[in-house]
Amino acid sequence: MRLTEENYYSKEANQYYMSVSQFKDFDKCEASALAKINGLYEEPKIDCFLIGSYVGASIEGKYALDKFIAEHPEIISSQGKTKGELKTEYKHGDRMVKTLLDDPVCSQMLEGDKEVIVTAELLGVLWKAKLDVYNPNEGRIVDLKTVKGLHERYWKNGKWVSFVENFGYVLQMAVYTELERIESSRISMLEPLIVAVSKEETPDKAVICFDEESLNYELLMVSEKLPRIISVKEGIEEAKRCEKCRYCRQTKKVSGLIHFLELTMGR
Ligand SMILES: [Zn+2]
Repeated sequence: MRLTEENYYSKEANQYYMSVSQFKDFDKCEASALAKINGLYEEPKIDCFLIGSYVGASIEGKYALDKFIAEHPEIISSQGKTKGELKTEYKHGDRMVKTLLDDPVCSQMLEGDKEVIVTAELLGVLWKAKLDVYNPNEGRIVDLKTVKGLHERYWKNGKWVSFVENFGYVLQMAVYTELERIESSRISMLEPLIVAVSKEETPDKAVICFDEESLNYELLMVSEKLPRIISVKEGIEEAKRCEKCRYCRQTKKVSGLIHFLELTMGR
């Protein structure tokens, strides 16, 4: 299956290819991930993701931004004094874009081809990925992230981590870099970087790098978890329900009693 801008996020593409977001979905809840792939379940769209796409489209260029606005008319105010103008949060999005482009290092890191689709076979399955910024001549792959705050910390698996670990971005960068390396038949990897900009009133920004050991560790984790995920995706093994996520709550049927002391278990 050949991927294009139009079919990249289609059901068929998700059934045919593995992707980082699909992998993370399966890792969180197999039942929910499988229902999503089969078109039986859709996660509600949250507005805060839209601002990230808006910033991404602005960085990509005028064509991408015009297309984004045409597809999301809800970002334009439809009443009052501001009718016809961008809603406040998207005006703030423009400030985030300016923050990045005014900074010489960030703007340099954002130079390169945008939204480049990569497909390659990794660990026995075909994967797809979309690189925000691809610049093989300068030896790098860059992903743009809009974040609450650069130094925000999150409680995950018993310790405090940054947004990078919390949202699985080390895994994403490790897989993207490896897929690009395989597709280009190169021995050495490009350098994966995250250009991050915060949504704060005065946006903060940074260029974030990774070490080889952390990237290799994530690839190892992927190789350990992937066989089970593939066999669930192919219907060989039955998907497990996490009984905590939105999908599981929506499809849950109470089958017995739970003792009050059990309620906080596994939290
Ligand atoms: Zn679940």
